[in-house]
Amino acid sequence: MHFDLLEHHTAIGFKNPEPDFEEKKFRDLLKWGIIDRIKGIRPQHPDHYSFPLVYQKNDFKHAHEMPIALTWIGHSSYLITLNGINILTDPIWSDRCSPLQVFGPKRYAVPGIPFEDLPPIDVVLISHNHFDHLDRDTIRRLGNKPRYFIPLNLKPFFDQLGITNISEHDWWEGDSFKNLQITSTPAQHFSGRGLRDRNKSLWCGWIVSISSFKLYFAGDSGYFSGFREIGNRFGPIDIALIPIGAYLPRWFMKPVHLSPAEAVQAYLDVKAEIFIATHWGTFDLADEALDDPPVKLREEIIRKKLNPDLFWIFRHGESRTPTMEVFDLSHNQRVVLNAIK
Ligand code: ZN
Ligand code: ZN
Repeated sequence: MHFDLLEHHTAIGFKNPEPDFEEKKFRDLLKWGIIDRIKGIRPQHPDHYSFPLVYQKNDFKHAHEMPIALTWIGHSSYLITLNGINILTDPIWSDRCSPLQVFGPKRYAVPGIPFEDLPPIDVVLISHNHFDHLDRDTIRRLGNKPRYFIPLNLKPFFDQLGITNISEHDWWEGDSFKNLQITSTPAQHFSGRGLRDRNKSLWCGWIVSISSFKLYFAGDSGYFSGFREIGNRFGPIDIALIPIGAYLPRWFMKPVHLSPAEAVQAYLDVKAEIFIATHWGTFDLADEALDDPPVKLREEIIRKKLNPDLFWIFRHGESRTPTMEVFDLSHNQRVVLNAIK
């Protein structure tokens, strides 16, 4: 598979280039969303989950004064500080991931950081336009000050909001921001917010590099050979944020969402050191219970005899500040975090 051959471009939009990619049709969505629900095949989920919010304002502030810090807001939203530059991934503070705030999947955990407590945001990484990743109200609140890194053909969405500070990219393309280099990477997914915009805009992940340090935000993806290609081009990667949720039922989700076990394989493929779990514990989007993906992730770590200390499952509002020692584990001081300039 040659991901640089523009095979993902078509006259009517974008497509996944993997030859065995199986695109789900509208009838599949009807079967899963309506027929299987009527038949009672789909599992019932509890109304409440006990996800603790561990946010402490002072601890959070101190953490983000360090050369590198990450705090989980929920779902795929993280605040990442790299050498004083504040980055948000797929930020959503709204109560529902939906076109209107009166229906659609609601939050089961409040945002890990109150919006008012955010430091000034420099960069926003957007992986694709699904409602759980691109939230109009949150983008409106963030305004035009951050630089938005977005996949191809998402500019019209930002135009509508009057946001001009954007950097739009195809796979493998990117731009610098201050001393960061930010590059779009392939993902196996799809896009669309309405009935007529399916796959009109691209979907992607992002590599953020500073000096020899590399962070990978995978966005949403099914398992595909692109992970190995990302590993070949960018590996080793220090920190990889990889989705583990919305993976059941497999017949419907597998082409476009990793299972926790596949997420571990993706982590190995991209040659990452630290795994950070995303896309779980916030919105009820699929057939597994919201607290299931980390359980399955831990089982896979044991099965594959990997070091559990390298797999980070944040609680909502939790901040972590990776230290140099973390990266000494296999790279022998490859990264000197205080020296990244
Ligand atoms: Zn998606
Ligand atoms: Zn998603």
